[in-house]
Amino acid sequence: MKTIPYGRQYVGKADISETIKVLESNWLTQGPKIGEFENALKKYCGAKYAIAVSSGTAALHIACLAAGLSKNDEAITSPITFVATSNAIVYTGATPVFADIDPCTNNIDPIRIAEKITSRTAAILPVHFAGLPCDMGKIHKIAKRNKLIVIEDACHALGAQYRYNNKWVRIGSCAHSDMTVFSFHPVKLITTGEGGAVLTNCKEIYEKLMMLRSHGITKDKNRFVDKRNKACGWYYEMQELGFNYRITDFQCALGISQLKRLDKFLSRRSEIAHMYSKELDKFPGIILPAEGDGVISSWHLYPVRIHGMCRKEAFDYLRSKGIGVQVHYIPVYLQPYFSNLGYKKGICPLAEEFYITEISLPIYPLLKDREIKFIISVFKSMFKGAT
Ligand SMILES: *Cc1c(COP(=O)(O)O)cnc(C)c1O
Repeated sequence: MKTIPYGRQYVGKADISETIKVLESNWLTQGPKIGEFENALKKYCGAKYAIAVSSGTAALHIACLAAGLSKNDEAITSPITFVATSNAIVYTGATPVFADIDPCTNNIDPIRIAEKITSRTAAILPVHFAGLPCDMGKIHKIAKRNKLIVIEDACHALGAQYRYNNKWVRIGSCAHSDMTVFSFHPVKLITTGEGGAVLTNCKEIYEKLMMLRSHGITKDKNRFVDKRNKACGWYYEMQELGFNYRITDFQCALGISQLKRLDKFLSRRSEIAHMYSKELDKFPGIILPAEGDGVISSWHLYPVRIHGMCRKEAFDYLRSKGIGVQVHYIPVYLQPYFSNLGYKKGICPLAEEFYITEISLPIYPLLKDREIKFIISVFKSMFKGAT
């Protein structure tokens, strides 16, 4: 039996031919496509700077370093996320602090953020879960009041928007944050195979990120510590400990081509979400995700909460019918690695309650109408069987 996955890429003919062109050129990496992709990204999102890197995790890592996170610092984030968000905090030596979610949006609750602030808090990492923007206006105010850096984990939310003071703000414009991070893994909104990016409006942060992406090395004469070497053509300086987090040119060619199709991807995702919502609305025993007023979701996921029956039963049944549902997410601090660090069950009761009931239904641009109808009918039949 063929399984319908919960998410997958859509790589078309144009994407492939653009990628092949680069494979046949002189530059496989560190060539012109990287800058082109970065320009397209910052233009789409409305930010001043963009840095493309090898993964969303790499992007989160260098964003945390550019924010100056280190040992003794705390950074507040959501427990309903992929482990990469909190791991990036841990990589810097800082401590992740988990603030509970708002069960209406499943996003981190600004009130809970404020409660977790201590003298050691240095940053907030809100996660736009499933593609639904967090309340960035409130988070920005809390951050300003407490002099905290804000890094948006927007791995689910490329293309999402929210209204602020009667203006639409695009995720990635960093209107209410210092940096925004994206992932281009195949299940995300657009793909480069593996890949990620950091967007920012701050020149200093941008320069720091550029160094961290490539071994902490600069070739910019004007920034050399040792000025005597300014005239030496071979000279470069490693000024801090960086990484090889570079992305390749052929990946960026794919990314440029994908980004051109993003708006079409987004409208198909929204269409699918509305098909589910229309059919499953008022169906007893479930809670559907809602966009709410003043936000446009990118619909990376369609997270349903099952109350009418046991989640494991529902999960196993849907999987047995070839529907590749998934659970997003196990609250991060419940993972053994974090339990071993001393995080206890009960830190975020609403996140734990969410986890117990959540199932993500398939959503991606290539999902066909007849597959959606099939998923809806199987989903409904499951409840009839249960009662
Ligand atoms: C996918 C994802 C990441 C990590 O991105 P990679 O490109 O897979 O490294 C981080 N945070 C969230 C919320 C994600 O969904």
